[in-house]
Amino acid sequence: MPYDKVIKDSDIEYIREQTGWAYQDMKWLSKEEAVKAGSERNALLQSVSGRVIKHFNESKISTGPLSPGCMTCGKGTWSCIFIGSLCTANCFYCPQDRKQKKDEPPNESGLIFNDPDDYVDYLEKFKFKGVSFSGGEPFLKFKEVLAFIKKIRKRLGRGIYIWVYTNGDLVDEKKLKALKQAGLNEIRFDIAARKYSLKAAKMAAGIIDRVTVEIPAVPEDYEILKKCLPKMKAMGVAHLNLHQLNATEQCFRPFIDHGYTFLHQPNIAVLESEMTALRIVKDVLDNNIGLSVNYCTPVYKHRFQKKAYRKRFQPYIKEKYEDLTESEFIRRLSVQDKPANLKEIVRAFQKSKCDGGLWFFDERENKLFFHPSLLDKIDSGRHNLIVNYYTPMLTTVPGKEDEGVKEVVLNARRKFMVERNLLHELTIDNPAAVKFFQELFIEKKNERDVLKRFYSDYDLKTKADVNEMMNEKDNICYLKTWEFVGSGLYEIY
Ligand code: SF4
Repeated sequence: MPYDKVIKDSDIEYIREQTGWAYQDMKWLSKEEAVKAGSERNALLQSVSGRVIKHFNESKISTGPLSPGCMTCGKGTWSCIFIGSLCTANCFYCPQDRKQKKDEPPNESGLIFNDPDDYVDYLEKFKFKGVSFSGGEPFLKFKEVLAFIKKIRKRLGRGIYIWVYTNGDLVDEKKLKALKQAGLNEIRFDIAARKYSLKAAKMAAGIIDRVTVEIPAVPEDYEILKKCLPKMKAMGVAHLNLHQLNATEQCFRPFIDHGYTFLHQPNIAVLESEMTALRIVKDVLDNNIGLSVNYCTPVYKHRFQKKAYRKRFQPYIKEKYEDLTESEFIRRLSVQDKPANLKEIVRAFQKSKCDGGLWFFDERENKLFFHPSLLDKIDSGRHNLIVNYYTPMLTTVPGKEDEGVKEVVLNARRKFMVERNLLHELTIDNPAAVKFFQELFIEKKNERDVLKRFYSDYDLKTKADVNEMMNEKDNICYLKTWEFVGSGLYEIY
C-alpha cells in the first residue's frame, strides 16, 4: 500500500475539520491499536471467507441475495425521498437533529417535492428503478406516502421497486394492507428503535411481499440481536441489512458517552460497530440460520451512492473537452501560457484535424482546455499541466451559465440547476510526472510499471530533486481519490 500515507494524512486533516470541538474528546486509534484492530477484522473476514457473497468491488458482503431495492442502489438507480423529518422515536444513533420540531416537506437531493406528479417526473427523467420513503418516521405522514406510491404506480407501472422505512411505532394492519394495495413491494423495520421488538415486522410479514430488518450494528446490543436472528427467519423476514454506526454532528456526544472508537473515514465510522456486524454475519453462517444478512458498509455508500449521483447530473455540466474518471468525477486538463504560445498549440490541434469540440481556448484566462486524447500534442517540457476535478451539485439558486450553472427543466412548472464544484487542482510541472499521470490515469497502464518508468525518467541532479520527485509521486497518487472507485473495505486507522 505505497500511497496510504498521503491519503491518511489528508483524511485525518479532513476529519479534524469535520468534527471540530469534538475531535479531542473522541477516542481514536493509535498506530498499534489500528494494526491490532485490522488483524481482528481480517480474522473475522477470513472466518466467513468463501461463505459470503462480495458485492460492488468487494465493498460489502452478504450471506445471501440482496433485496431488489438494494440492487437498484448498487446500480445507481435508486431515489430515496425523505417524506418528513419528525419522528416518534429518539434513537441515540439518529443522524438527524431530533430537537428540531418543525417538519420538513418531502425532499430528495435537496429538491422539495410537495406534488407527487413532480416527483414522478423526476423519477422518469432520471430513469430511476427503485424508490424508498424515509424520514423521520414515514408513518407520521402516512397519507402522503400512500399518495406518492399510488401516483408512482399509476404513471410508472410495476417496473419500479418501492419500499418504506419505518421504526414500526405507528404500523398497524390497516395501514399495511393499504400500502400493499397501493403497490408497495417491501417494508424495512428499524427494530433497534423499539428495543428489538419484532411485533410489527411479524405483522407485516403476512401482508407485504418482502419484509426486511434494517438497523445499525449497535455493539452493546450484539447479544439481543443475535437472539433475534432465528426468530426473524422463522417469521419470514427476508433480509437483515446492517449498517456501521457513523457519527454525524448529532451523534458526537452520545457516541463519545458510549465509549466508541472512531475511525478516520469520510463518514466517521465506529470501529466496534463494524466488528459487531461481522460477528452477526459469522453467527448467521455458523448456526445455519439461513437469513440473508447484508453488511452495507459506509465505504460502499461512499463509492457507489455518490458515484450514482455524479453520473446522474454530470451530463448537464460536462464539456466535450472534459473527460470522466472511473468514479464519474469530471476531469479537466489545461495549460496556461501567453496567447501566442497557446495559439501555436491550437494550430497543431487544427493541423491534426481533431474535432474542434475537444479543445477550448479561454482568452480571458489565457488557458487552453483540451481533451485527454490530445495530451500527446502538448510539449510537457514547455508547459505545466493543470488537472482539475469537479463534481456536479444540484441547486435551486439561479446562477449564470458562464459560471458553469446549467438549468434542468423537469416539467412546465419545475426546473432546477446543476452547478459544478471544484474539488481539487494540481499543477504538474515535471515532464516525467506528466507522463506518469498520463500513463496511470489516461492510459490506465499497470501501476508498478508506470512507477518504475517514472523513477528512471525523473531527472535527478541534486539530493533536493529526490524529495521533489517523491512529492510529485505523492501528489499524483493522491489523484486516485477522484480517479478510481477503489475496492475492499477501508483500512482501519
Ligand atoms: S427511528 Fe430513525 S428517524 Fe427516528 S429517531 Fe430513530 S433513527 Fe432517527
